[in-house]
Amino acid sequence: MDLYAGKINRLIEELSSLPGIGTKSAGRLAFYLINEPEDRVKRFTDAILDARANIHYCRECYTLTDEEVCPICSNPRRDHGTIMVVENTRDLAAYEKTDKYEGVYHVLHGAISPMLGIGPGDIKLKELMHRLAGDVQEVIIATNSSLEGETTAMYLSKLIKPTGIRCSRIASGVPVGGDLENIDEVTLLRALEGRTEL
Ligand code: ZN
Repeated sequence: MDLYAGKINRLIEELSSLPGIGTKSAGRLAFYLINEPEDRVKRFTDAILDARANIHYCRECYTLTDEEVCPICSNPRRDHGTIMVVENTRDLAAYEKTDKYEGVYHVLHGAISPMLGIGPGDIKLKELMHRLAGDVQEVIIATNSSLEGETTAMYLSKLIKPTGIRCSRIASGVPVGGDLENIDEVTLLRALEGRTEL
């Protein structure tokens, strides 16, 4: 027997399909939303639809933005000759929060994972290599220290070496298996400063 009405169950089901939301949280959120005023719920769903429809990749760095070129890439005060490679936009935001990095980024949107069948062609690697044909002095590889992140870093360094561009990897301080976005700013900075040449 279903505990709740069909439409409530459907809402719970949809919510629990989101990352990090279990059935219990989904139930709590569902009842919260149902009890909110209708215009509040509409603002919420509009925000989701609007973001989905209007957010796309930055033409340069492939981060998610609602502009043609993101504010970092279009900032002339940033050092466009230094590119930090990250797995996703949340990792970019983590480094950006430190307020110390002056270069630009490249967002891969994933990492190489033979186990999950994710190969070099499934992430924004080709796009990175295309950028490296321009005026670039250094690439800082800041993928996560998970197996996938390390695999990607190795693969990248092999691709970059022949170009003669300096290539480094963020250092210790980032725990093995740790997600960059969950790491405090001091640790992130230490990792950036202690990066090692590849
Ligand atoms: Zn950009």
